[in-house]
Amino acid sequence: MKYETVVGLEIHVELKTQSKMFCACSTAFGSEPNSQCCPICLGIPGALPTINKKAVELAIKTGLALNCKISEYNTMDRKNYFYPDLPKAYQTTQQYHPICRDGYLDINIDGRKKRVGITRIHLEEDAGKLIHDSENSLSLIDYNRAGVPLIEIVTEPHIESPEEAVAFLEELRNILIYLDVSDCKMQEGSLRCDVNLSIRPKGQTSLGTRTEMKNLNSFRAVQRAIKNEAERQQNILESGGEILQETRRWDDLKGQSVAMREKQEADDYRYFQDPDLVPFIIDNQMVEKIKNNMPELPAQKRERFVSEYGLPEYDSRILTSSRELADFFEASVKLYDEMKGSKESKTVSNWLMGDLMRLTKELGVELGDLKLTPSLLVQLLKLIDQGVISSPIAKEVFDEMCQSGQEPDKIVEKKGLRQISDIDQLKEIVREVIQENPKTIADYKAGKKKAFGHLVGQTMKKTKGKANPQLVNKLLQDEINIFQ
Ligand SMILES: [Zn+2]
Repeated sequence: MKYETVVGLEIHVELKTQSKMFCACSTAFGSEPNSQCCPICLGIPGALPTINKKAVELAIKTGLALNCKISEYNTMDRKNYFYPDLPKAYQTTQQYHPICRDGYLDINIDGRKKRVGITRIHLEEDAGKLIHDSENSLSLIDYNRAGVPLIEIVTEPHIESPEEAVAFLEELRNILIYLDVSDCKMQEGSLRCDVNLSIRPKGQTSLGTRTEMKNLNSFRAVQRAIKNEAERQQNILESGGEILQETRRWDDLKGQSVAMREKQEADDYRYFQDPDLVPFIIDNQMVEKIKNNMPELPAQKRERFVSEYGLPEYDSRILTSSRELADFFEASVKLYDEMKGSKESKTVSNWLMGDLMRLTKELGVELGDLKLTPSLLVQLLKLIDQGVISSPIAKEVFDEMCQSGQEPDKIVEKKGLRQISDIDQLKEIVREVIQENPKTIADYKAGKKKAFGHLVGQTMKKTKGKANPQLVNKLLQDEINIFQ
């Protein structure tokens, strides 16, 4: 590899506010087109905007979590360009005095820590949405999204690979969800990412010409686009060509990017301070107040899960990968502890990392889509502890419980899944298994330890998994010794 890749990201995040950035219109997603608009967000001349205080607070919160300096003096500026989804013909943004500057985010790449600088975070508004109707060869415009508050997070060009970009985005999304700043639903467009990419010969310090890629609507698309664009640029340089500074659109279906337009320079946008919005001051008191009310962030939670619950780092990383899962874990451990009087953190962790992950993957859903509650999980653990059901049966009950929300003991009764611990009944079944498997017995006696597992399996099969496994083991041992 002669070249190295240099990537900077620009991430647009829709803020979780009730109303838009400069007017009182609702930000609810999925409403009737053009039902959430007013003269301000439609850009009717003479309509006067006011700044959404909640949006400012959410931007500060994000800045603090990303180790930024918060600007005292802020302006809103106009970025002028014409496009049908922009009714005002300018976007109100923060060109000259962004709300947050000079931060960083530490990410973890295969156990190695990497620091990615945050250049700036600025407040701005979203544009409307164009819906292209190719059948009737026309385009429709929905202005419900016009004026929805956004922050744009701009990183330093510190990212060197597709894997680093994805690790950064995952950690960032996790933080934004923990902060309750955004729901970060990429499929609804509330988290969008542009990739600035250039390559340079290894060892060179100056940056190469960069391209900007847009339309990346999943982390996988980001990963593929970076790999693809680095290769494209390398091919151009190696064949003696020159890279054009341009904006490119990523086509995820085709797995390639296409040139959209030459990159606009700042001058083309004729930025100037918005005369309808006075500069606003963020004083120390406001910053301190937000700082004092910050929730625990993923990195802090990861450390606490190790120190407080004695979990391995691997468990801690997975359990804190979403706030929802972390909260679920803590609530379950607390309930289980109240019932048992001992902290069974690892047992709870195993169920969540094992069977819960398996089930959500199988069904293609998330924890929130299931009917599982900490109380139901703990009730199930209790049934296992009491020997009412065996572990394999517990998995079956778990799956049903997650989907129906029914209590585990009801499921056990309804389906007749109670564990068989009756010695006489089991002894009979074990004898049958021995009678039916003379070859396996011979193998076992000849020293093949694995053969024993086969006999256990046969017994479990005959009882449809309901036999008490410890008892089966013991009975098999006893019976084989008798059986000569
Ligand atoms: Zn409005």
